[in-house]
Amino acid sequence: MNKLITLNEEDTIEAGAYFSASLLQKETHRSLVLFLHGDLGAGKTTFTKGILRGLNYEGLVKSPTYNLVEIHKTKALMVYHFDLYRIKDHHELEEIGIREYLEEPDSLCIFEWPDNAGSLMPSADFEITLLHDDGPEPDSRLITFA
Ligand code: ADP
Ligand code: MG
Repeated sequence: MNKLITLNEEDTIEAGAYFSASLLQKETHRSLVLFLHGDLGAGKTTFTKGILRGLNYEGLVKSPTYNLVEIHKTKALMVYHFDLYRIKDHHELEEIGIREYLEEPDSLCIFEWPDNAGSLMPSADFEITLLHDDGPEPDSRLITFA
């Protein structure tokens, strides 16, 4: 397990960009699954921006809070970024076709609030937790890679 402290938003974006290299080392017949844990405002979406930067995505990255999923086409992988904060039951996930996203080769499914999906969720290939931290700066975050 690796731990890292970031001091500001840009640091967390860089951490995401650095992490994105490890996504290119796994070959699977289905989507790679990344869980992002942490409270509101911990930096899950910010970290995702970094992943997309690392994959050379140049478009706007916004939080999928309202749309449930934001879709990004990068050269190496399709990236499906989910925010399940508002999910009440897994029928909502079935409706948006979660199974098809998960079965797609050469893709990455990133989940914020994965626990809200209950039994529908597969196990993760990568799990990362972001925490507000009483670190050296007021904006410090502790990022744990499992
Ligand atoms: P989440 O998706 O976990 O709810 P966001 O990434 O949307 O969180 O928001 C994190 C907020 O905290 C952003 O407004 C960002 O600018 C701010 N921030 C301050 N310091 C950091 C840091 N070290 N890492 C990530 N975000 C930070
Ligand atoms: Mg978010």
